[in-house]
Amino acid sequence: MRLTNLADDLGVPINDLRSCYSLHFGSPCGPNKLLSPTEISQLTKFYLASKSGKIIYVNKKVIEFEDTLPQHFNNSNPYSHEIAFHINSKASLNFESRESSIYHFGDVTFDSKLSNFEAFSICRGLTDRHAQFISRRFFKDSHTPQDISEAQFLANKALKSYGINFLSHLITLPQLPVHLLDSSPLFSIMDKRSKSIGFHSMFRLVFTDHSGTTSKFKLSFLSLKKSEKTTINRNVLNIRNLDNNEDLMQISRSGTCVPFPSYRNIIPALQFFVSIASNPSSAILHYGLKTGECSICGRPLTDPFSIREGIGPICKKSII
Ligand SMILES: [Zn+2]
Repeated sequence: MRLTNLADDLGVPINDLRSCYSLHFGSPCGPNKLLSPTEISQLTKFYLASKSGKIIYVNKKVIEFEDTLPQHFNNSNPYSHEIAFHINSKASLNFESRESSIYHFGDVTFDSKLSNFEAFSICRGLTDRHAQFISRRFFKDSHTPQDISEAQFLANKALKSYGINFLSHLITLPQLPVHLLDSSPLFSIMDKRSKSIGFHSMFRLVFTDHSGTTSKFKLSFLSLKKSEKTTINRNVLNIRNLDNNEDLMQISRSGTCVPFPSYRNIIPALQFFVSIASNPSSAILHYGLKTGECSICGRPLTDPFSIREGIGPICKKSII
């Protein structure tokens, strides 16, 4: 079959199919180009996919899109509510006004304002091997009433030494995902930017944690290499720590966060993203002011006006 016959069969303009051919196969062709059966099926597939927005061509490379979320976004989490409470609110703010419960451990009677989730989460973050062991039992739902008293005891002891402000830093979260934030403003910036430069767009943010350590993060669409081709998932943002090049977490369009299990001390970072998600533009400008680079394109800001604003004139269009 010739290219022109395929164009007729598909009911599409011959020149559209010719440019699709040259982008996909890397060489130009005339309307009478003879196609092999493999070429016919590949070209048909790519032409239809490009028309439906499932692939685009960037720098002569085919980029395909994944519509479905990766499987780990569908895992349920029995502690969603408590995790969201911890991350979305400063748990310390209302701590004093919480109701307390009485526990007995050994000969000791004590009261505690911690939930069992908090007590076992704190135990998980302690260096005590036994504390970690009973915590694992709790999160596997195989704990005993005795474990609860012990976890409450150990967690309250830790609370006394570290103080409530460190509570969130002691907690090592159990397996996420959790629906945490309204991610549409973050995606809106990425969607606008990707219209002009393609789906490899990104932006950068800077975050200072409670100990004064500053980290740079990069947000981009999740990109997966499948054999020779790159697949982009436009429904997932991947967040990478630029200081150590470690992936930190992924956020879906629906606002579900899935941190990478290897990432330690995730709560401050989660709290940061929850706090900036509704208004990422100011965090983007803050990045420019703090680092002297444009958050969107990464170039140094040189123009005095851009330096004062924290962003370059072209990239500014992506955030307004
Ligand atoms: Zn820029």
